[in-house]
Parts: sequence; structure tokens; C-alpha cells
Amino acid sequence: SIPLGFFGGIGAASKNGILIKGGNYLEALNKVDAVVFDKTGTITKGVFNVTKKIAVNEFEEDEIIYYAAYAEYYSNHPIAVSIRKSYKGKIQEELMKDYEEISGHGVKVIVDGKVVLAGNKKLMKKYDIDYKEIDELGTIVHIAVDEKYAGAIIISDEIKEDSAKGIEQLMKLGVKRFVMLTGDHKKAAEGIAKEVGIDEVYAELLPHEKVEKLEAIQKSMKGNIVFIGDGINDAPVLARADIGVAMGGLGSDAAIEAADVVLMTDEISKMATAIRVAKRTRKIVW
Ligand code: ADP
Ligand code: MG
Repeated sequence: SIPLGFFGGIGAASKNGILIKGGNYLEALNKVDAVVFDKTGTITKGVFNVTKKIAVNEFEEDEIIYYAAYAEYYSNHPIAVSIRKSYKGKIQEELMKDYEEISGHGVKVIVDGKVVLAGNKKLMKKYDIDYKEIDELGTIVHIAVDEKYAGAIIISDEIKEDSAKGIEQLMKLGVKRFVMLTGDHKKAAEGIAKEVGIDEVYAELLPHEKVEKLEAIQKSMKGNIVFIGDGINDAPVLARADIGVAMGGLGSDAAIEAADVVLMTDEISKMATAIRVAKRTRKIVW
């Protein structure tokens, strides 16, 4: 049976905008050794702005935005939302067919009879597109039309105001290891990790590789491992972690469902609050 004090702890957490789905998780929060983060929508806001367009071959900048906006029309990924926002024209849904989202890669759709791809290098390689290496700090979305490379859109995301502070608070609460797992490219990932004080980064991971990395971290640590994500392509990692933590505002329904703890305000510092509440509850219960 669950000691009564746990209900008080869950209540205290809930007043702080933290949903804890059971006394066992409140107890587990007392011995967190490592916190593993997703990048997009977790450390960063997940709201991108287009910072650069690179058109190649016979394509114009306006055209790559046009094709990208169509390709991203049905996707819920934060990248897709941002690209759609930057397209001023109207989308004619009847021009599109055979939409496909390729997890950890990007999207594919037929627009007006042309096969359009929008995504990362992995997507370009998968379809044998002769793409260009681009040396930029932002997230790079490559576009191809009918097997021809059309260029790339560089988009940048902002770090949440409290990410660095939240990580510092977690360190003070005894968390020993901080890791970032992301599907984004290495340069973008390392830049953001450095700014918030994370020195262990694994980039260019597919969703199943995120699970494998998490398992390797679990094996190498004694205490509990927290994974925090927004659930876009990381619900399997959330489910696998000792304590899966989802963002309640930005997060997908699947993430909130798969998570053990939900941070309603999407702030990393609320993770530190959750641990603090757990430590206080433990003092009351024992
Ligand atoms: P993360 O949240 O760590 O960036 P994801 O698995 O959601 O991981 O995405 C990994 C990468 O796959 C992205 O950085 C991007 O390059 C590419 N990607 C995923 N979905 C899309 C999309 N809808 N459009 C373009 N690229 C995408
Ligand atoms: Mg994500």
C-alpha cells in the first residue's frame, strides 16, 4: 500500500504544475542519477524561424519554400509548423497525394505529380539524392524535387529561458550526469548543449537509437534515469526510462500518455521542483 504522505507530495507537485502519475514515481525521484534530454521542444522552444534559404540547380528560393510548405503540410513536427508559417501562399490540398512521414528523416509527398522530399541528410541518402553538405549552426532541411536536389532551408530554434538554470538546479540536487539525445545534426546539437551546460551529446539518432542509448546509460548507472522529451518521435524513450517526463504544453498526446511525470509549463526547472517535492515528501513519510 502507498503511505499517505505520498498523496500530499503528489498534491504539492500538482500545485506547481507537475503531474506525477503515482507514488512509486515520487519515490523514484529521490534517487535520480542522470537526466537525459531531448533537444527540440525540450531544451529549446521548438519554434523555429527561417534564417537562410539556399537554392541550387535551376530552383529559386521561393520555389524551395513552396515545395517545403507543401511537403510539411500534414506533419506535426515543430520543423513542419515553422516552415508552413514562413510560406505566405495558399496550400491547395488537392494537388497532393501519397504523403509519408519518415520518422527521424523527414517527409515525402507527391505535389502536382512531382515527388517532393523535405528532411535531413539521412533522407537525402535514403533516396539517393546528390545533396550538398551545408556548414550551418541551425537545423538544415534539405529539399529535393523529382530526384533532383533543390537546396536547403536553414531554421533556428531558441533555447528556453530557464533551461540552463534548470540544469544547474538539478546538479545542485545531486544529479550526476546530463545527456542530450537528438535526431538533429551534430553541430546544431553541440552548440545548444554547450549553452545550457550539457557535455554529453549524441546526435543524428533515429528514434530506436535513442532507446538503445538510453538503455546503455541505464546499464552504466546505479540510480534512476530520467528522460525528458516532448514526445515528437521520442515516445518510445519516454516509455523505456525509469522516469519518463513529458512536456504538457508543447508535448504530444502520445507523450503525455506514455509519461510518468508531466511538466505542465514545459520548463526544465520544474524537473528540479519535482525532485525537491520528492525529497521533502520522503522526509515526511519516513
Ligand atoms: P529531435 O527532436 O531530436 O530533433 P526527431 O526524431 O524529431 O528528433 O527529428 C530528427 C530529425 O529528423 C530532425 O532534426 C530533422 O532533421 C528530421 N525531421 C524529422 N521530422 C521532420 C520533418 N517533418 N521535416 C523535416 N525534417 C524532419
Ligand atoms: Mg523531439
